[in-house]
Amino acid sequence: MFDKILIANRGEIALRVIRACREMGIASVAVHSTADADAMHVRMADESVCIGPNPSSESYLKVSQIIAACEVTGAQAIHPGYGFLSENAGFVQALEDHGITFIGPSAEHIRMMGDKITAKETAKRLGIPVVPGSAGGVPDIETAQAVASEMGFPVIIKATAGGGGRGMKVATSLEDLEVAFRTARSEAKAAFGNDEVYIEKYLEKPRHIEIQVFGDGKGRGVHLGERDCSLQRRHQKVLEEAPGPCIPPEERARIGKICADAIGELGYAGAGTIEFLYEDGEFYFIEMNTRLQVEHPVTEAIFGVDLVRQQIRVAAGLGMEFTQDDLKINGHAIEVRINAERIPNFAPCPGKVTAFHAPGGLGVRIDSALYAGYKIPPYYDSLIGKLIVHGADRQEALARLHRALGEMIIDGVDTTIPLFNALLEEPDIQAGNYSIHWLEKWLKAKY
Ligand code: ADP
Repeated sequence: MFDKILIANRGEIALRVIRACREMGIASVAVHSTADADAMHVRMADESVCIGPNPSSESYLKVSQIIAACEVTGAQAIHPGYGFLSENAGFVQALEDHGITFIGPSAEHIRMMGDKITAKETAKRLGIPVVPGSAGGVPDIETAQAVASEMGFPVIIKATAGGGGRGMKVATSLEDLEVAFRTARSEAKAAFGNDEVYIEKYLEKPRHIEIQVFGDGKGRGVHLGERDCSLQRRHQKVLEEAPGPCIPPEERARIGKICADAIGELGYAGAGTIEFLYEDGEFYFIEMNTRLQVEHPVTEAIFGVDLVRQQIRVAAGLGMEFTQDDLKINGHAIEVRINAERIPNFAPCPGKVTAFHAPGGLGVRIDSALYAGYKIPPYYDSLIGKLIVHGADRQEALARLHRALGEMIIDGVDTTIPLFNALLEEPDIQAGNYSIHWLEKWLKAKY
């Protein structure tokens, strides 16, 4: 096992990893930008290193600085968290060259899944059902027209290098297509430096269902059921739950096995998430994320496992502490993402937190790097905390969420807490009856 791990991230996910390290008797090293000198992850880690100025391009994304921090502190492995360098194959390669272990899959698997066309082709080859779409990239508008006409409208144009919901455009008719195609390409170019796009059938009322998988890197793969992440705004998740309210146990077992077998066959190492759209009882692969997800705690809650601990074990060559048969679902969990944003337009709202009180009690977990007096810097993501509740069933989890939101106090900045209070009043949310379009429609009608 490693003696010391460096966490190449900030905020709540850095705390999450530091906590796992401490329970495993591993020393932790935080890295931070100038703006984050007073951040909680710096305070909580055993050691810290400043790696550069405020913009993430000059700090959290600076590979040379992060490697230097490893060498200075003697950290043997790096946990990347999510975002930043977590899905950067070049980073993983650089670590390998320096003899530092990356806590995550191989550069090859990251590369394979980072290109969405290759990912889809791989998924297909492994027996995973995929969304109907173009065979590979669509180079020009004429090809786009041919593909879309044959498939039928509506279609969605997506960036091959996509992520974070960017570079995606829906076209409902041949007339729309040209503008959608050009916009998706220029957005993709601006966001990812790669304007390749592909086309998929646009599903009209699917749910977003993702399967948590884990591989030992030696041919064994398991799944930890699904998370329903259908409540989205601008293709970004807002609330997640597990198990999915609409997934029957035999469907979970079926798609779970397909995913676990695929991970085994790939020889994949560590945590991964295979994302699907789910409509009329069918699963359609959209992408795979080769890292820990923001919403991993709902899976941890219902399975009673520590996914970060397992990631560290697999990276150290010790394998997972469970087999598929050990993994049994217990109850229901819901996570809400608390962002420093002003409702209803979701404008980022950085600033000083004047008071902070975290809810507690049975079945309540808070993953947050906030504290009273903390100044939320404007340079990074607006996620400031995750509230996760676990109950014996969905009803209990909802009641607990309501209760915990009521206890929570964050003063000084606007947050998304009022949004969740309002959502809990909705019969559709209470019934678990929502597709990926529900939230946007509801927001439009309400505000
Ligand atoms: P990103 O990597 O940018 O997050 P994804 O491929 O994971 O992109 O898609 C994000 C979200 O976009 C999905 O959860 C879903 O809401 C929507 N989406 C993607 N593909 C389709 C599709 N073929 N039909 C309908 N919605 C889609």
